[in-house]
Amino acid sequence: MSRAKSKGPSLATLAIHGAREAHRPGDPVVEPLVQSVNHLQALGTAEGLKYTRYGNTPNAERVQKRISLLEGAEASLVLSSGMGATACAMLALLRPGDHLLSSMYIYGGTHRLFLEEFAAMGIEVTLVDPFEPRSFRKRIRKETRAIFVESPVNPTCRVIDLRPISYLTKQEGLALVVDSTFASPINLRPIEHGADVVIHSATKYLNGHHDVLAGTVSGSQAYIDEVLQKEMLWGQTPDPFALWLLERGMKTLDVRVQRANATAMLIAEWAESRKEIKRAHYPGLTTHEDHQIASEMLDGFGGMLALELAGGGKAAERFLRRLRLVTHAPSLGGVDTLICEPRYTSHAKMTAAERARIGIPDGFLRLSVGLEDPQDLIADLEQALK
Ligand SMILES: *Cc1c(COP(=O)(O)O)cnc(C)c1O
Repeated sequence: MSRAKSKGPSLATLAIHGAREAHRPGDPVVEPLVQSVNHLQALGTAEGLKYTRYGNTPNAERVQKRISLLEGAEASLVLSSGMGATACAMLALLRPGDHLLSSMYIYGGTHRLFLEEFAAMGIEVTLVDPFEPRSFRKRIRKETRAIFVESPVNPTCRVIDLRPISYLTKQEGLALVVDSTFASPINLRPIEHGADVVIHSATKYLNGHHDVLAGTVSGSQAYIDEVLQKEMLWGQTPDPFALWLLERGMKTLDVRVQRANATAMLIAEWAESRKEIKRAHYPGLTTHEDHQIASEMLDGFGGMLALELAGGGKAAERFLRRLRLVTHAPSLGGVDTLICEPRYTSHAKMTAAERARIGIPDGFLRLSVGLEDPQDLIADLEQALK
């Protein structure tokens, strides 16, 4: 696996210390929460005006710097949700009359944002199958401004090869935007593979404790200045307390993601040995269709996996009812192991036949592996299968 970040402190250290300057006696070890909305202003100048909605208060600047260090980006912003991040990131790139190419495998909220909200603003979006060769190239128009992808893909855990897409966006002068929520910067840093913009729902791995809603956008300084204008005017800036909690959550990002990677692999291997499970979808398994690409692109195969029960929807319901430790809840990327059925969450609007066509038949369960003892998790899954 590539671990491209070779110079300077490792990701684990950056997640804890960021760009901390020299230590001074008496400084707090933990950055204080500065819950003030406004700050004293210098006389006779508009320079240095601090206001929470401007994204420039102490807790915001500190976390934003840290995200940039982890992603290898010039600049970053933290917004009040993953959706707020996606909306402001795309509004900074697209104008009425522009065209966006997007992978068809994207978060449900993003799908609606693109096809309902953006369509009403005169921004046309074409959904593309990212696993079909040359699919993006074939659909470029002269109005196309950007390509948007999400990888690994929810909930099938397929991994998109960003390299040919970034070759195309560079050649055509388009922006490549990657929602990298499922991987976290520990497993994937899309900028290393040619992406221009990286988005996270920080609600998931970056915070990791199921208690903060936030989103991030990273890219060049000039681009982030544009996103900041959207954030300020559409009112998408988080409160300092959310930022303070996010910084606290991020300190353990590396150990949390490494542990989730290791446990997910154990669960996937266990699942492959069980006849009640028709298929385990995990890019770390050599049987997964994207195992080779995942090995080249990712530093870890992730904490997300899917189990397809042989008994279909009925078996899934029985299985979920019997689970004691693994929690039936949506969302992902936190300390608690969660399980959900995409047919009742992200893909509820589709028919069973439509879902089956994109690889999500009834009986398909998505797992977000948390930090519980791996053997306890496997024991719970095992007893629920019986
Ligand atoms: C959860 C999620 C979002 C939306 O994030 P919120 O923080 O809930 O607004 C966007 N993309 C992906 C991949 C997600 O999992």
